[in-house]
This record gives sequence, C-alpha cells and structure tokens, in this order.
Amino acid sequence: MTNPPLIDAHCHWFSNPFFQALAEESPMAGTVRQRISLVQESTGLQLPDEDDSVHRLNWLAEMEESSVDRLVIFSSHPKESGTVAEAAAAAPKQLTGVAVINPNVENAAQKARTLLVERGMRGLLLFPAQHGFRIDSPLVDPVLEEIAAVQGVCYVHCGLFKVPLRDHFGLKRTANPSLANPLYLVPAADRHPNVNFIIPHFGAGMFRETLMAGMQCRNISTDTSSSNGWIRTQSQNLTLKDVFERALDAFGTKRVLFGTDSGPFPAGWREDRLSEQSSIVRSLGGSADEHGQIFGGNIARLLDLS
Ligand SMILES: [Zn+2]
Repeated sequence: MTNPPLIDAHCHWFSNPFFQALAEESPMAGTVRQRISLVQESTGLQLPDEDDSVHRLNWLAEMEESSVDRLVIFSSHPKESGTVAEAAAAAPKQLTGVAVINPNVENAAQKARTLLVERGMRGLLLFPAQHGFRIDSPLVDPVLEEIAAVQGVCYVHCGLFKVPLRDHFGLKRTANPSLANPLYLVPAADRHPNVNFIIPHFGAGMFRETLMAGMQCRNISTDTSSSNGWIRTQSQNLTLKDVFERALDAFGTKRVLFGTDSGPFPAGWREDRLSEQSSIVRSLGGSADEHGQIFGGNIARLLDLS
C-alpha cells in the first residue's frame, strides 16, 4: 500500500493583496507602500512579490524542497481571496484554496457561493471573535448551506485570536474571545450534518471545550497547526504530547488533521513543526496507517482530494 500524501491542512497564503489590505486599514502615517516598508523593516519579513504568480512560484519551489505534497491555503483577508483562488487553480495538485468570509456582510451567502462555485474554493474560514458573531447564530446558516452544497469544509477559528502582522500595522484589537467558544459550534454542527467543521489549533486555548465539541459531533475535526503557544493559558501543565494524546482519544485518529500555520517568508513552510508533531504521534504508538491519516489522509477524505 502506498503512503497517503503529506498534506498540511492549515497554511496562510499571505500574498501581496493581504499586506496591501492591512496597510490600507492601518492608522500608520505615510502611504500604503511606506507603511508596508516600515513593517517589513521592523519584522524582518520577506515581502511577497507584487506579482502574485511569482509568489505562487516561490511557494511551489518551497514545497519542492520539502516533504509536503499539498497545502490547504487560506486567504486571511477577503481582499486576498481572488489571489488564493488563482493560485489553487494554477496548481491544483499542490494547492487547495479556502477563503475567509464574514457572514455579517451583506449578501454573505451569495459571496460564499461565488467563492465556492465560481472560484473553486473548497471551504470557508470563519472568525466569530473577530467579526462579532456566534457560530450558532441563524445568520450563519445561509453560508453553511452554501458549504454543504459543494461538500466543502468550514474552519471555525475558536479561542485566542492573535495576528502579529495586524499588530505591526497598528490595527486595533477588536476580537471578542467570548464569542469563540467551540461549544457554540455544537448546535451549528448538528443543524448542518453535511458540513465538516474544523477547529484550528486544538481550539487555541479552549482545549477542554474543543474536546467536548469533538466528542459530541462526528462532523467536527481539529487541526494541530501553529506553535501551540496557547498551551501557556492552561491552568494545568500540559505538553504538546499530552495535547495530542487527549485529542486523539476524544476525536479518534480520523478527525485530527496535521497543520503547521505556515505563512510568511523567510520562514516559509514549517518543516520543523512537521518533525515535532510527527515524532510525538509516533511516540504515542498507533499504526503507520493512523499516522498517514493524521498527516494527510484525513483532510484528503474531507475534501475528496485524490
Ligand atoms: Zn492560522
């Protein structure tokens, strides 16, 4: 039997339109270009090329040098979704697009349909804390119905919300973490049994609630992405190995999805996170088949990727 492909279920594309969008919203002095330059100087980040196809080729070259076969790439601002869709369409064997959407905006369901049907996105990414809604609110239902219609996935960011780049651009923190409780996902997941929901980062601090939601609903999975710095918010000492052990116990090996939260260059694709997580999963025992499911097979099944 051949190994399933190695798929990273959680990456940010962070292309030029994303930086442009943050710079336009930023209260910093100067032009958009000057603001981007200042942030580049203070962070040491390598800015994405203004030509989106160059950015795409850089990512594909990065993948070529690593062991990863496919990335699920997110737009992190609605203005970036077109670029992510183009990248995924240009490299369908390596890239799968997921678009951020705010269900509070006018014609959100129509926008969702355009992204999923016309632009070929395979899922949507929702930020209840950032956009001020509860995931079980009826206003989200039309968007979830659009996802169900294309058998896509819905990432629901729960727990702590921190985007360091937003801070560097001086953007106010407006997130209300009380809206980001994974338990709000339970009624939504029950109402939409044909949508597969994914809670990133083991719930980003709301770990217990994530385990509870996962035990309650078969259509909720969790991803393992990020440095998992949220562990510091827990009242008990937990290691990443403890986190994996409990998540695998509550969700089972079919609903834990490997991710890195890779984003800007020069860091590029975070192979170090693969190594760390892979050695943890191996140390917990389990078969090679289960390892293969967690590191690609599960997200491939949810997205019907071949
Ligand atoms: Zn992320």
